[in-house]
Amino acid sequence: MTSQTIINDVFRQLEDHYGYFDWWPSDHPFEIMVGAILVQNTNWRNVDKALSNLPAPLTPQSLSEIELDDLAQLIRPSGYYNQKAIKLQALLKWFERYDYDHSALAPINMVALRNELLEIKGVGNETADVILTYALNKPSFVVDAYARRIFSRYGLNVPKNYDKFRLLADGTLKHQSAKYGYFHGLMVEHGQQFCNKKPKCDECPLGAKCQKLEV
Ligand code: SF4
Repeated sequence: MTSQTIINDVFRQLEDHYGYFDWWPSDHPFEIMVGAILVQNTNWRNVDKALSNLPAPLTPQSLSEIELDDLAQLIRPSGYYNQKAIKLQALLKWFERYDYDHSALAPINMVALRNELLEIKGVGNETADVILTYALNKPSFVVDAYARRIFSRYGLNVPKNYDKFRLLADGTLKHQSAKYGYFHGLMVEHGQQFCNKKPKCDECPLGAKCQKLEV
């Protein structure tokens, strides 16, 4: 089986099993950008607690008025709060170049915007792809630990390099790029429900075709 066949097969089976759902738990683009940084190395429950400490409605302007030390204390529930406060301020500094206006980002193509995001302190590949996909409507396939684990166990020769895996998935699914947010949600959902550290292969909807490799 080719890599492309495996990737298509997995997503087709997961779509059949889970049906469609909206995954990222916010519709507000700026809150998604902030959430993408806060969720690094933690779960969404802790992000929610941190977000609830921030001004509402959450805007770049209101966030930029908070001093660094105060910001760190407010986002403390998300962990690594001192580093994350610095990262949020770096994100704001970048966004200020566009007058905090999402529509100013619309004319920039995905690759150029991705490169800009990667230059921001604390924004790595996964965070950049989450921001592009969920906040900026410029889908870029999100590679995370769940995707690595599911596909490796299934039998795909998963490239170690982030970009190689992203481009492999992107080359296979490009015509469905509008569904990248959903696909990332499927990976998280499936990784949590079945393919977690102790996989529940007997009940798994991918069980019939998965090679169940040790990873
Ligand atoms: S069959 Fe097992 S190893 Fe394969 S995807 Fe399902 S839970 Fe993971």
